[in-house]
Amino acid sequence: MKDILVIGSGIVGICTGIELIERGHLVTLIDPNDPGSQTSYGNAGVITDSSLIIINNPQLLKSLFSLVFKKKTAFRYSKLFVILRFFWIIRFLLFSNQKHMEKAAKAYKDLQTLSLNSHKELIKKTHSKSNVLKPGWLKLFKTEESFKKHSSEIEILNKNNVEYTVLNTFEIAELVPELNVKFSKGILFKNSIRVNSPLELSKKYFEYFIKKKGTFINDKCHNLKYISSQWNVLTEKNKEYKFDEIVVSTGPWSKSFLSNLGYNIPLAWERGYHHHFSTKNKISIIPVIHDVEGGFVYSSIGNEIRITSGVELNFFEASPNENQIDEAAKKLSKILPLDKKLTPKAWLGSRPTIVDSMPMIGMASKHKQLWFNFGHNHIGLSTSAGSAKIIADLIEKKKMTINILPFCPSRFDFKIFK
Ligand SMILES: Cc1cc2nc3c(=O)[nH]c(=O)nc-3n(C[C@H](O)[C@H](O)[C@H](O)COP(=O)(O)OP(=O)(O)OC[C@H]3O[C@@H](n4cnc5c(N)ncnc54)[C@H](O)[C@@H]3O)c2cc1C
Repeated sequence: MKDILVIGSGIVGICTGIELIERGHLVTLIDPNDPGSQTSYGNAGVITDSSLIIINNPQLLKSLFSLVFKKKTAFRYSKLFVILRFFWIIRFLLFSNQKHMEKAAKAYKDLQTLSLNSHKELIKKTHSKSNVLKPGWLKLFKTEESFKKHSSEIEILNKNNVEYTVLNTFEIAELVPELNVKFSKGILFKNSIRVNSPLELSKKYFEYFIKKKGTFINDKCHNLKYISSQWNVLTEKNKEYKFDEIVVSTGPWSKSFLSNLGYNIPLAWERGYHHHFSTKNKISIIPVIHDVEGGFVYSSIGNEIRITSGVELNFFEASPNENQIDEAAKKLSKILPLDKKLTPKAWLGSRPTIVDSMPMIGMASKHKQLWFNFGHNHIGLSTSAGSAKIIADLIEKKKMTINILPFCPSRFDFKIFK
């Protein structure tokens, strides 16, 4: 039995805490914020085994010109960010090749399958069933042309045995009768599930962690020192603790947090917004819907619609700019009868993205008894429970059930651009 500290109580940290405690370790979570209240609070709620295509794929290079020079709802950027993080962006773009996309897809299929199954168990154990619906994920295409442009995604789904159904206009209208607009094609992922409230799910998982005798410290981890085979932890409230092992699950804060220990993590932030709207009529759409041409995602929760935006490439601390989400909402109001905006300010979260769009899950390269679990970008709700299993297997020196090399934290070591 080991005494383990998990830093950060987002969905990734909470799942890691549960997995470790269920294997008989003493586990403490530390966070200055409430569990699940940061990036994990406002996401679209999709848990899937089908998000295999990373953002920096070959299609990105083809559409680069229009992304940079035409204002798109799916993508916005800060010029200053692009200038100051130019090398990060070039490295990100260098990963937009077929070989990396295929490698990433295979690794993600294994991780997401492991994770989806693990979430299903956690949902049962934590009595979260009322927060979950199925099928959870639907992609809609207005035109045949845009569907055809996604043929490479279909190929990847087929290669990796993802279950899906292609829907025609009639089938889409039958599944979602509330839509005011006709869509030409849809891809329905029947195995995926959707969570009505990601915060509620985090809270239920956290309650389970506490019920299993986990400890929560409401404080910020300030400094870590490795002394005599143990980690000494100093917090912002000037408290000191000692642990055998540390897991860093600090999401978008991981770059700054680990710089103090001498790590230069190639991480940036794909920011995203959400708003809630009331509707003129009662609407109950089951899956979360991705409007592919529109570049936004929406779902209905009771009588409310939650809309989440695409990517804003910007600094973590930059002030919010609601233009992107407002534009998406304008487009959605032509599809659904939106009424009042219920969120006075848009919620803003920062997807933590490593330059190759793969999370870091595994052993830190410069320190003993230090483990990384962050960088889950667009899919951290989906991948959280599986990544927790990997970390626990690594700490216990167990045989891996999937190939974890693509997630190895030391994969950038000794490279020219480090
Ligand atoms: C608009 C949007 C939509 C999304 N939709 C989906 C979706 O449908 N499905 C999906 O799978 N994913 C989705 N995601 C991605 C997902 O939300 C993230 O990948 C995930 O929430 C990351 O979780 P995390 O635990 O790593 O980070 P966080 O939830 O941010 O948790 C990190 C925690 O670390 C804490 N912390 C930081 N520094 C310290 C410190 N020094 N000491 C102690 N604690 C510290 C923070 O307070 C925070 O609580 C979406 C993201 C966005 C923005």
